[in-house]
Amino acid sequence: MLSEKSLGSLIRDKGREGRRGFTLPKNDVENVDLGKVLPKKALRDEKPRLAEVDEPTVVRHYTNLSRKNWGIDTNFYPLGSCTMKHNPRANEAAAANPGFASLHPLQPEKQSQGALRVMHELQGFLAEVSGLPAVSLQPLAGAQGELTSILMVKKFFEDAGDSGRTTVIVPSTAHGTNPATATMAGFKSKEIGVDEHGGVDVEELREAVDGTTAALMITNPNTCGVYERNISEIAEILHGSGAFLYMDGANMNANMGRMRPAEAGVDIMHYNLHKTFSTPHGGGGPGCGAIASTENLAPFRPDPTVEKHGDEFHFVRPEKSIGRVAGFHGNFGPILRAWNYIKMHGPELRDVTDMAVLNANYVRAKLGGTYRVPYNELCKHEVVIQPPEGKRALDIAKGLIDHGYHPPTIYFPLVVKEAMLIEPTESESKETLDDFIGAMLELAETSEEDLEASPTTAPTRRLDETRAARQLKARW
Ligand SMILES: *Cc1c(COP(=O)(O)O)cnc(C)c1O
Repeated sequence: MLSEKSLGSLIRDKGREGRRGFTLPKNDVENVDLGKVLPKKALRDEKPRLAEVDEPTVVRHYTNLSRKNWGIDTNFYPLGSCTMKHNPRANEAAAANPGFASLHPLQPEKQSQGALRVMHELQGFLAEVSGLPAVSLQPLAGAQGELTSILMVKKFFEDAGDSGRTTVIVPSTAHGTNPATATMAGFKSKEIGVDEHGGVDVEELREAVDGTTAALMITNPNTCGVYERNISEIAEILHGSGAFLYMDGANMNANMGRMRPAEAGVDIMHYNLHKTFSTPHGGGGPGCGAIASTENLAPFRPDPTVEKHGDEFHFVRPEKSIGRVAGFHGNFGPILRAWNYIKMHGPELRDVTDMAVLNANYVRAKLGGTYRVPYNELCKHEVVIQPPEGKRALDIAKGLIDHGYHPPTIYFPLVVKEAMLIEPTESESKETLDDFIGAMLELAETSEEDLEASPTTAPTRRLDETRAARQLKARW
């Protein structure tokens, strides 16, 4: 809407009464008295105040606004846990194909066979990557994939007549969405700690698991970027007491082609198709938190999944489905991009993982020594570091902005003080990483005074971040 609220500066500073960016042909339709055809409450008392501007002014206004925006298409963006990697343009071309983009979700199956085939094949690809055969593409985000998974576990126990499973165990290194999921699904969330490698404390887990345990939610690699080396033993402990092992697989670009969750004993997991299979995270755009499970959880999947009967593809409601978790058929855009991404890579999907891990370890090796590395061993797709003694993560992050970088995630994971979580992703070149590392090393030497003055090159100086989060005003 062209209201004063959303167009403030355009109206106040650049608008001139009577100025127009267009001309319309003379009205040759009889004027309708709106007061007679619309209810009174739909009518305004006063004319809205609109921006009265010429076209070049509008174009410049929005173009300049867009240039204040930060994105991976402008700069390196190593935001830990978010996988801000390059989005291959071939996937965008596929998603923009009118044959897909103009499909209506209520179009009959017979007319949507191409789209159903993409969904069916992607279900198969994801089953192959995880080793878990039962896939659903319904959840719209990673967090919703978690919730879907835990609701399936809940329904499994209900169906089995086991009403005593009231608890979901969550390690302290888990993504914040994990305990939130357990609680939303109606379970008690029980926290356990980490060992000296940053992995789940197996002895503590052994103590914590009992007949009330429904599942453990494990993030692997965890939010310290560390691979859960004891995952098979962890799975045995849970299975020994009839509970499930759920894996948060948001960051499968650390595992694909190298580790299949099913072989490690995982029963159910979610993917972030956005993040792992193109469509970077964080743009606020549509996502897909596809899930994959073992056969015994398959009947509880959300409605619908896609099956192939003869030569035709159909939407099918799994037998004991938890019901719908999304309107229509999920977010088809990310589904199509993921299908395209996997088709383009083929068996070389494993190279994605290798590059993601190599890049993170390169950063770890180059920054270690100057920065502190709490878990200084082979990391996966991301690495957690701490600033040199006496410096704050916040100041280094702000200083990075002046060097032309989006800061990494800071103060997360919570188990590490002054944490900086760096995820370079697989799509960055050695030169980009070297420049970034150079900036980080320079910042380690920069005086506290200069650091505290940063950022000086951004459209705004330092903000009150608490207030910005609590009273968000997303308008110019
Ligand atoms: C990103 C992420 C999530 C949540 O994904 P959303 O799509 O933002 O809901 C969950 N777990 C981990 C480990 C993640 O990195």
